[in-house]
Amino acid sequence: MRIIRLAGLAALLAAVFGGGLLAAHAHDITVCTCDQACYTDEVAKVSCERGRARFFSHGLPDPKDPMMRGITATNQQFPALHNYEFEILLKPELAGRPTRTDAGPVGVAVNGVPIFDPSTQGPADRNTGKRPSAFEAGELDVCGGHAGRGDDYHYHIAPKCLIEDLGPDWVEQDKKPIGYAMDGFPILALGWFDKKNAVEKDLDPCRGMKDASGQYFYNVKTTSSWDVLNCLSGRPQHFARDRWFHRQDRTGKEITGIPIRFAIEDSSRRAYGGDVCHVMTGVLQGEQLLLTEGRTRKVRAEEGALFYCNKACYGLFFEADRSRAIRGRAIYYDRIADGCPRGFDVSGLKTFTPYEGPAQSRKGPPPMGR
Ligand SMILES: [Zn+2]
Repeated sequence: MRIIRLAGLAALLAAVFGGGLLAAHAHDITVCTCDQACYTDEVAKVSCERGRARFFSHGLPDPKDPMMRGITATNQQFPALHNYEFEILLKPELAGRPTRTDAGPVGVAVNGVPIFDPSTQGPADRNTGKRPSAFEAGELDVCGGHAGRGDDYHYHIAPKCLIEDLGPDWVEQDKKPIGYAMDGFPILALGWFDKKNAVEKDLDPCRGMKDASGQYFYNVKTTSSWDVLNCLSGRPQHFARDRWFHRQDRTGKEITGIPIRFAIEDSSRRAYGGDVCHVMTGVLQGEQLLLTEGRTRKVRAEEGALFYCNKACYGLFFEADRSRAIRGRAIYYDRIADGCPRGFDVSGLKTFTPYEGPAQSRKGPPPMGR
């Protein structure tokens, strides 16, 4: 209903004042949670019933987005297809007090990619009580996202590439949401393209405000840290369900992915029969490698690939056992290629030199869910 009223008003104002002026002065956002036209092609089957909008996605952005590019610190996770079902409350209400968010999902973008709190799951700083920021740690790509513990791609800051793809008509003129928070309130990016629309000074501590009609919304920060929201003004809801498979190593253990300094240049994904092969190329920087003969070697900058097709076809780094002969942490490259699917050319990949010495105990960080 609201859309129709807005459109009518917009047409009237455009006729009287001209379109340019309208963009700067119409302080009403578009509420269109049930409308497929308010989501990208990556979102399917939008429906509304029992007070909630429902939609599905595989959790990956437009294939043209430079996913994973620009990451310098990674847990060697790959962005894989997931099976998400989202539910967004249609008539959210402001709660008596805001709810703090912690590491984990806080919403979803209109392309069906989850949005997470800015922090990682790393331990909180003893002095500030805050967990490390994924953005400051170099974990995010140029679009503001990365692959997490479940090989799930998600954003931690404003989804920059998505906002650019949606464009000024969507974001500034129509004032359509770029996502929804887990309390049901829409997330906008006013001021991203057009500074005249900036609302930064009007935002409450959660980064929210009401439009002229009283509709509450969050607005992403358009500069520096690109924050999405700082807390939830409504009541957090269970809003997402997902199904996926964890990757396993050759011993059948779940791969949890140790963090390494690896500047990702490219990431790709292709199906070969029943396997999906993920490849990430980039430069390993400032790491200590365990060599087959037991010595270690410092790496300043070395190009290579991380890949995974199945538990008998992968090339990934694991942490070497600590020993008195090794100072600090060493990592080794495990390259297994006996079960690679037909058509996947490992020899055509520039891999790192594999470690072939005595078996390591393959300790890694404990599984953390997502
Ligand atoms: Zn993350």
